[in-house]
Amino acid sequence: MKRFITLISVCYVIFAAAAGVPQIVAHRGHHAAEGSAQNSIRALVKADSVGSYGCEFDVWISADDKLYVNHDPSINGVVIETSNSQDIDKCHLSNGERIPTLEAFLDTAKSLSTNLVLELKQHRDPAREDLAIQKILKMVAERGLDDRMIYITFSRNAFDKFVVQTKSPVQYLTPIAPAELAAAGGSAADYNINVYRSNPDWIDQLHRLGLEANVWTVDNPDDIRWCIDRGVDYITTNQPETAAQIVAETLAPRTLRIMSYNLRFGERAPLTRIADEIKAQNPDFVALQEVDVNTARQNAGTNMGKNYLTELAQLTGMFGYYGRTINLAGGYYGIGILSRHPATEVKTIDLPNPANVEPRIMLMGRFLLDGHTPILFSSTHLDYIDMRTIERQALYMLPILENQKVPLIVGGDFNSKPSDAPIRLLDSHGIRLSGDAPTFPSNKPKKRIDHIFGFPANAFRLIDTAEGVSSVKAASDHLPVISTVEVDFGTGFNSSGK
Ligand code: MG
Repeated sequence: MKRFITLISVCYVIFAAAAGVPQIVAHRGHHAAEGSAQNSIRALVKADSVGSYGCEFDVWISADDKLYVNHDPSINGVVIETSNSQDIDKCHLSNGERIPTLEAFLDTAKSLSTNLVLELKQHRDPAREDLAIQKILKMVAERGLDDRMIYITFSRNAFDKFVVQTKSPVQYLTPIAPAELAAAGGSAADYNINVYRSNPDWIDQLHRLGLEANVWTVDNPDDIRWCIDRGVDYITTNQPETAAQIVAETLAPRTLRIMSYNLRFGERAPLTRIADEIKAQNPDFVALQEVDVNTARQNAGTNMGKNYLTELAQLTGMFGYYGRTINLAGGYYGIGILSRHPATEVKTIDLPNPANVEPRIMLMGRFLLDGHTPILFSSTHLDYIDMRTIERQALYMLPILENQKVPLIVGGDFNSKPSDAPIRLLDSHGIRLSGDAPTFPSNKPKKRIDHIFGFPANAFRLIDTAEGVSSVKAASDHLPVISTVEVDFGTGFNSSGK
């Protein structure tokens, strides 16, 4: 049993990429807003007014120990860390505001609700950073803002000091590997998008370590969608309104048509008729079972020797994905997926086969709806001989179904009735997106063994579900199942998957 649990724990994350709901951080405040300027008080107020999760800003300490909000080391030719406040205070931002002190910035923030992403700039003398940190933490505590702070820095000295001196999250801007960052006590990486693009595993590694991923500076809509798709936790952007709109559009609830259909090896009807049944339902995804590819099946009539999957894909105008379970009669036998949306990744997962009966798999694809909203769809066909094997297969599937970070739908022939243990198990962890009416045998249905499930349960709402019409001329010995479901891509997933 221990070995079984170990196997589950290492394999359940099937796709590295993830999607949560990324939070928007206005880089140097919302300085694109009218009358605003980078790191101005107005940029802070505007970031708050458009609902940004956070406002990022930069902090320096002057030669006479006063803290200022500014990006560059100097303003109007005055170098902040080597100048006194009497010279710095005379400097103005491009919108006419005087350079803000950190005190004024935090005083304004007190009446707002946006979080404060404070970047302490790297100073020439680390001792100045140490003093700045002391003063920052005191100033923040005096204003009761600890719960709204995130500290970020490129300076390793400042990073290490923040980590030991504050309970607020500390994110590191200098790229180091996730494991090193975790060992150093960081709460998140805050790296340039190109760092993540060059290290495609890092976001997933961060999440596995319980850390988060912040990305800067992401203004291009395609880059913003890339961040959503990869499951970053924070998008730091100069365009907070645009970014928020793209996130909302990408993760807005959608209605999908889902179908599950066991084809009975294509023995009952030509593929053209099966395709017509599928097309009539206008599904987004179809989970197919008992699918032959180039198999010399004598009872399959005109279907014999055909590649069912590619034929059905062509006839329905959908994308087709195949999962072979066994070699058979010169070809393959297995399961498939038809999808209106292209997959970015498709995998087969072997299911337990303790009694050494016919091998069974899950076929799982990661799809992008309209090219940008990720969802997982899976087809499966469980054993039909031994209920203990079916139970074992359902138990094995469960953590795979439960531990993805995007909504997941699985349809198939589970060879189990709603009252059987495998279905009760899946019911208790996910949501069944299909009914109880019998689906088998199709001419005189007695048993309900075809089902559709959604994970996590709170991301789905079943709008309606139906079974195909019972008929002696049915195209298969199973009735197809078709459900209309609403998927909320912003529900049930927190940013870090914790
Ligand atoms: Mg900054």
